Amino acid sequence: MVTIHLPESTLLVWYCGRCRKSCKVQPPDPEQVACRCNNPVPGLRPTRVTVMHAPKARPMHALSNEEARLRALARRGTRVRVTFEATVADAMQWTAGDRRGLEFDLTTADGRRHTIDPQLPGLHIEAIATDEESAS
Ligand SMILES: [Zn+2]
Repeated sequence: MVTIHLPESTLLVWYCGRCRKSCKVQPPDPEQVACRCNNPVPGLRPTRVTVMHAPKARPMHALSNEEARLRALARRGTRVRVTFEATVADAMQWTAGDRRGLEFDLTTADGRRHTIDPQLPGLHIEAIATDEESAS
């Protein structure tokens, strides 16, 4: 798991007595002011608020082989095959008029659920052979 540490700073925020939104901050930062009243009524005491700052520019870093490989693929028109492994958590058969289908509810290793319609053009679902699984 990667934890990203964002620089943080503490602001003093005065909330407007009319709209309850921030109307004055110290040090001044227009991005943090939400009040749009013509005559804001700042409260008497400021509230101390810690703000995370998203990095404005990402530092340049060397591309890993995997990133470079993905970037090379990320072009319009490139033909790709997308595969992922999951466990069938549920499957649902549906009918709509004379159409029918089967929908798969899959769980990936991270525990997330994915609903897959096997009728999507180009989509292919197959079982993972048990020997193949133990080999990896
Ligand atoms: Zn206001």
